[in-house]
Amino acid sequence: MMQKIKYILLLFLGILIFSYTCVAQGTQLRDALKPKYVFLFIGDGMGKNHVDLTHAYISSAKGKIRKGKLTFTGFHAYAECTTESKDNIITDSGAAGSAIACGVKANNGAISYYPEYPNSAMPISLAKKAKEIGYKVGIISNVSIDHATPAVFYAVNESRDNYYDIGYQLPVSGFDFFGGGGFRYPKGENNDKEDLYARVKDYGYVITNDVFEISQVDTSVKGVMFVNPVLLEKGEMPYGIDREEHGGYELKDIVREAISYLYNSKGFFIMVEGGKIDWASHNNDAATIAQEVIDFNNAILEAFSFFSYHPNETLIIVTADHETGGVYFTESNIDSLNIKGYLNLQISSIEYFSDVLSEYKNSNKIYSLPDVIYLANLHFYSQPLVFTEKENQAIVEAYDLYFYNKTTLSNDEIEIKYGGLNPLAVVFSKILSDRAGVSFTTWDHTDARVPVYTSGIHSVYFNEDMDNTNFMTKLNEIMKW
Ligand SMILES: [Zn+2]
Repeated sequence: MMQKIKYILLLFLGILIFSYTCVAQGTQLRDALKPKYVFLFIGDGMGKNHVDLTHAYISSAKGKIRKGKLTFTGFHAYAECTTESKDNIITDSGAAGSAIACGVKANNGAISYYPEYPNSAMPISLAKKAKEIGYKVGIISNVSIDHATPAVFYAVNESRDNYYDIGYQLPVSGFDFFGGGGFRYPKGENNDKEDLYARVKDYGYVITNDVFEISQVDTSVKGVMFVNPVLLEKGEMPYGIDREEHGGYELKDIVREAISYLYNSKGFFIMVEGGKIDWASHNNDAATIAQEVIDFNNAILEAFSFFSYHPNETLIIVTADHETGGVYFTESNIDSLNIKGYLNLQISSIEYFSDVLSEYKNSNKIYSLPDVIYLANLHFYSQPLVFTEKENQAIVEAYDLYFYNKTTLSNDEIEIKYGGLNPLAVVFSKILSDRAGVSFTTWDHTDARVPVYTSGIHSVYFNEDMDNTNFMTKLNEIMKW
């Protein structure tokens, strides 16, 4: 009898050990299949036509679009994504970012803000989830680090306009790396509040303006905040097209150094925003858009080269939060367009050239059209253009409006025609985009679906059309967090 009981007990123990081993192996197997290194690239405002425009811009053959010149368009999976927000068919970056980050629709302007949820059930961002499971987290953007897209990953706020309150939450996140632009209002809008950079340091972060210092920082510190040595008025990095004039680093430099700082055996989650694709699109500035997409692609290339060393552990997702500008092409056959031939003639952004014009206006009392053309040939075009009669007329109209406030247009018509920008800079840019066959339907966002390109482990999940809330549902399944 005792023998029998002993036998049953032994058998029971055996089953127990076997089951435990199976579960443990299962967990190991599941963990092994879970991407350790996750990249999420968000090209703010980057629609499908922004990608085509850039393909044409870098095409080696005049007038031909060569697909595959951008790294991310060669990714394994492709899908299209709907972008509407909770309260509007056309989203802003706050609502779209919140939906991508937290998997739940938010109202326009919100920063991962869900008042309808009780505190205990509040949706949290992908970055926070990654941090909870022990991954290192990096947030990178070439616009200010408290801007809507980076903010939705580390902060919660009713309004994207509360830059200071958003920045105040940055060090509390405990994330390991922040990089790119600085704070929009480091001491608040009235310059009377606690300095946010000092606060970040107090939390144990190292702040540097030297990109090559990032990977040198001892990993025992709380984290690193890299701020580009050149910041413009809104705390953002300069446009790629203006970098030679302004200086500073490229998005790709920050991504490369962040990867080497964040690399560890447990894993990392890195979000990178190409924020100025949207800004250039609001300006309908085609050449500047193409340069921004190229910068964004170069940053993706850094992740892709990391992926080539860690193919079974890396997932790279490239998408956009919405489309901006309603970019379209005006020839029936895009191959016959000469986008490269014309847009390559532009050497600075509309914003940069607007500053040149406003300096000219402020430092002179008498103006002349030849002076303005001279400035355009010096700062905006790589070679002097011979204008058509129609183009000349457009220049004169904008010149009269800008320098002498002389116009037959109503204020509304001026707004529609020039989007609240410097009319002359807009006209000089439009001459090139018109000749190239590139057009815009709006100065704002559109409801167009955006592309999703994915490479690496589990990219197959992203091979079907989706909504922006599905990044979270898919990653929930993949990450099992
Ligand atoms: Zn925008």
